[in-house]
Amino acid sequence: MSLNILDRQLTTSAPAPAIEEDPLDLMEEIDRLKAQKNAAILAHFYVDGDLQEIADFTGDSLKLARDTTTVPHPVIVFCGVHFMGESAKILSPQKTVLMPDLLAGCSLADSCPADKLRAFQEKLRAEGRDFQTVAYINTTAAVKSLCDWIVTSGNAREIIDRVPADKEILFVPDQHLGRYLSEVTGRPMILWPGSCMVHEVFSIQDLLRAKKNTPGAVVMAHPECPQNILELADVIGGTEKMRRHVASITTPTTFLVATEANMIHPLTKIAPQHTYIPVPGIMASTGETCACNRCPHMARNTLQKVRDCLRDGTPEIVWQPYFADAQAVLQRSLLQ
Ligand code: SF4
Repeated sequence: MSLNILDRQLTTSAPAPAIEEDPLDLMEEIDRLKAQKNAAILAHFYVDGDLQEIADFTGDSLKLARDTTTVPHPVIVFCGVHFMGESAKILSPQKTVLMPDLLAGCSLADSCPADKLRAFQEKLRAEGRDFQTVAYINTTAAVKSLCDWIVTSGNAREIIDRVPADKEILFVPDQHLGRYLSEVTGRPMILWPGSCMVHEVFSIQDLLRAKKNTPGAVVMAHPECPQNILELADVIGGTEKMRRHVASITTPTTFLVATEANMIHPLTKIAPQHTYIPVPGIMASTGETCACNRCPHMARNTLQKVRDCLRDGTPEIVWQPYFADAQAVLQRSLLQ
């Protein structure tokens, strides 16, 4: 049977199927390149377990931001999402900061664009409101440059205590975290209506079912989860707090974990005596339970891309003029 012209074009222009590379070979190659380029790999707890294994440093946003300032290597490969790579560059401008995939964004950071925040701040000021802006670290550098303080789930209470009592607080971008912090600190807040696509979708029905099926299980939830999930949680905390909590318990326990599903990896590593069950997400479009508790942005980080960016020295986070303002805020909030 002969092919017509269109068929031939389609046949010849179809991309070659991606060749699966052996993860162990890739890990060896990454080790070799790391030594050759004098590079350190930093990996967030939400990236794939293989990447956490090859990393020199793992942690939450706060720990990794601090690690960037102490690693002696001139090159950092940041396995995480874009705002984390920006923070690394801002805190260590003299270092080369590479990211496996520059398109690894964050729905929470996207929910607060800098131009909209600036306009809202101007409106509040025009109304005579006297406030300081506190931003969760999951924001772009352009947004950070407009803020007074940056918090992570690990240091939020301490930073909010530093906001003068006579000032109002505008909290951006996560409404759920803001509501929770307002509750625990007793400070009223003007909340920006943003949220994380991963934490927003936890299924309350599935959590209730899992609780019923596993009597005695302890529910741990990230404060980015909506209020109805937090109300069912026994422990509310960011990723470092979760690790510390499970490590402090010796009796084997079952934990239902409401955060990004890759978090099970560091939990199992630090406290293997326990059983961890990820709480499933629910698809907004159909209402079906799904694997939404995996962050699609974090999932853009792969072993292949780490190898490629180490080998090629790109893509790189390049210094931008507005990084200078963001630097002052980040240093004041995370390093002092
Ligand atoms: S889990 Fe949510 S907040 Fe974290 S990087 Fe992904 S989209 Fe952003």
